[in-house]
Amino acid sequence: MHNHLEIANPQVRQKYGQLEGCVSIVGNVALSLIKLICGLAINSVSLIADAFHTLTDVITSVIIIISFRLAQKPGDQEHPFGYGRMEAIATLIIAVLLVVVSVEFFQSSIKRLIQPVPIRYDYYIFAVMIFSAAFKEWMYRFAKELGERIDSPALLADAWHHRTDAAASLGVGVGLLGVLIGFPQIDGLLGMAVAFLIAATGYQLGKDAANELLGKGPSEDLVETIRRHALQVKGVKGVHDIEVHAYGEAKYISAHICVDPALDVATAHDISDQVAAKIETAVSAPVLIHVDPWQRKSV
Ligand SMILES: [Zn+2]
Ligand SMILES: [Zn+2]
Ligand SMILES: [Zn+2]
Repeated sequence: MHNHLEIANPQVRQKYGQLEGCVSIVGNVALSLIKLICGLAINSVSLIADAFHTLTDVITSVIIIISFRLAQKPGDQEHPFGYGRMEAIATLIIAVLLVVVSVEFFQSSIKRLIQPVPIRYDYYIFAVMIFSAAFKEWMYRFAKELGERIDSPALLADAWHHRTDAAASLGVGVGLLGVLIGFPQIDGLLGMAVAFLIAATGYQLGKDAANELLGKGPSEDLVETIRRHALQVKGVKGVHDIEVHAYGEAKYISAHICVDPALDVATAHDISDQVAAKIETAVSAPVLIHVDPWQRKSV
């Protein structure tokens, strides 16, 4: 499904990240200006808030572009494993912004529920909100397509952000339609629902990014692949303590192998080199092998 050579290439990843970032910035600046003009024209607090919310998305797009640029920097003395985890840091920042935005949404929704204000709503504003939601849905699909192509958590995070924005615009548009037919409270209720949606998205993205930053364990699949290849080498009697450290796309693997305790150091070392080479070819990551003397009791 994926072209692994292409998605591992930092230059290709950077191009995809920058393309998505630019589309986000241009789209969000245009949408926020349209919504701000409409909001001021009809004196709608929720529409103005939605416009400002869209404007804050420009900031998150700038973060994505900067993080992709940093992620392709090679390792240096202070950061020997490179900047691969920069994408996770960017995702975490986006997640925090989503939660902050959701709290603000919730507060303004409660205010509107308690004290509805008169709004000069009209069907052409409704049409603008529907267009805004549809455009955001397109931005979601565009970012999701690119994010899936290069398997990037930051792009997928931004994609989901676009979709919550589409829901927010739809909620505001439909909510204000309720104002038109004599139910101003619908505006506040829909606003609260959208706030919960945004908060849930922020929580999920934040959790995933934090897991990557804390150093989550490797997949069962990867561990099994490493074990299988190690055991294929003649003289390996057991494999344990398989560890995988991931820095974005870059992975570093270490494992213990058990060999006959009667072997001399040169032979044991030769076996460990063969195991390392075999795993390296299988998963294309540097491998460090530690040799243990085989004991019947422990594995
Ligand atoms: Zn947003
Ligand atoms: Zn061991
Ligand atoms: Zn060696």
